[in-house]
Amino acid sequence: MKITFYGAALCVTGSMTLLEACGKRILIDCGLSQGSDAKRGQGFDFDPKSIDAVLVTHAHIDHSGRLPYLYKLGFRGPVFCTPATHKLCSIMLIDSAKIQESDAVWLTKKALRLGKKPVEPLYTEDDARGILEYFTSYSYGRTVNIAPGLDFRCIDAGHLLGSAFIEVFVVEDKKASKLVFSGDIGNLDQPIINDPSYISHADYVIMESTYADRNHQAVFSQSQSEDELRGIIISTFARGGKIIMPTFSVGRTQEVLYLLAKVLPTLGFKVPVYLDSPLSIKATEVFATCIAGYYDKQAMELVEKGINPLDFDTLIPIEDAEKSKTLNTLDQACIIISSSGMCEAGRIRHHLKHNLWKSESSIVFTGYQAEGTLGRSIVDGKKMVKVLGEQIKVRAQIYKMEGLSGHADRSGLDKWIGAFASLPRKVFVIHGEKENAELYALHLSSDMGMDAVAPAYGQSFTI
Ligand SMILES: [Zn+2]
Ligand SMILES: [Zn+2]
Repeated sequence: MKITFYGAALCVTGSMTLLEACGKRILIDCGLSQGSDAKRGQGFDFDPKSIDAVLVTHAHIDHSGRLPYLYKLGFRGPVFCTPATHKLCSIMLIDSAKIQESDAVWLTKKALRLGKKPVEPLYTEDDARGILEYFTSYSYGRTVNIAPGLDFRCIDAGHLLGSAFIEVFVVEDKKASKLVFSGDIGNLDQPIINDPSYISHADYVIMESTYADRNHQAVFSQSQSEDELRGIIISTFARGGKIIMPTFSVGRTQEVLYLLAKVLPTLGFKVPVYLDSPLSIKATEVFATCIAGYYDKQAMELVEKGINPLDFDTLIPIEDAEKSKTLNTLDQACIIISSSGMCEAGRIRHHLKHNLWKSESSIVFTGYQAEGTLGRSIVDGKKMVKVLGEQIKVRAQIYKMEGLSGHADRSGLDKWIGAFASLPRKVFVIHGEKENAELYALHLSSDMGMDAVAPAYGQSFTI
């Protein structure tokens, strides 16, 4: 059995690991590289046609976004995931293809002016629809056979609706071994979804380390997030400003809506909330349909009372791009939730251009900001940033809602890996910036007595 790391190796995005076992070649995740991780390009350093199947831990684009490209280059095997991941991928991969196509149109215009060749999109909507035909989904806890000697099972990872730890069971030469691929490990007490599950046995663990360098402030409860949000709304509305929330469409947006549905009725004044992203609107619809088996106890209690926990009367979805632009001139305190979450693309850039320089406005970050992104520059406190080709002075109040992290922090990672009753034979630490992944592997070795390594891109291990 052999394992090779083709993404999220000493970086956070582009998750992709190749497992060769029982004569099969199985890819675990097939994510798009983002921010500065994308410098390497999105190409595959193996033949996509040689892959027999893909297991997808969850729908986030850094875990699923290269699947249509794999299809474009000839992959035609099954893609296994949970039903909610399938539904979310159905909207996200199409959306991603549209972005690829429109980026290519824009880049082509530039290229032609320079006398260069037109730019091809990485993949098209047809490629996305093509790969979606190959999706097969199974609920949490069901063991599924892929090939003789090779099975897998999805366990709730508590990171995103439908997110899974994937257990892979291998029997080779009459010897059984079990691998656990963590995908992303959820945070505790996240709104809507369950806490991460704990697994007690594995021979090999492949785990993330996004937040291995920090602990979220104490144990950040949902009610603390509600208080934080309430405080931001009261002070920004007192200044007459807008609250701009760059928010990942899938997962984080629904958590923010869930919190707002709780906070707004306690304020005593009306707060218009514009949900300015077609993908976010579609994803919210998926969240409203995948309930049983996915929602946590508190969210289920609301559903049982006939309440949609993601809706409230001042929520205004904005589908139309022209209507989105009218929000720029709207002279009214309000909340605008838009994407992309790291401010690299999409409508959020207009809202930033029109609000970053205003001291009465607030920019509220609700998620991870990768190195090299506009979001990271703002969070890091840059006083001047480039938005849509223009230099903009940062005068708005900048907030980062730590409690909304979808990732376990250092103590959460320790708790998760510490739950394995017997020491795994080896732990591979991935999905973290170089320093984090290496430090966490060192911590597992020196403090927890494990054989741990942070593999580099392309590194293989025979196990
Ligand atoms: Zn994720
Ligand atoms: Zn991830």
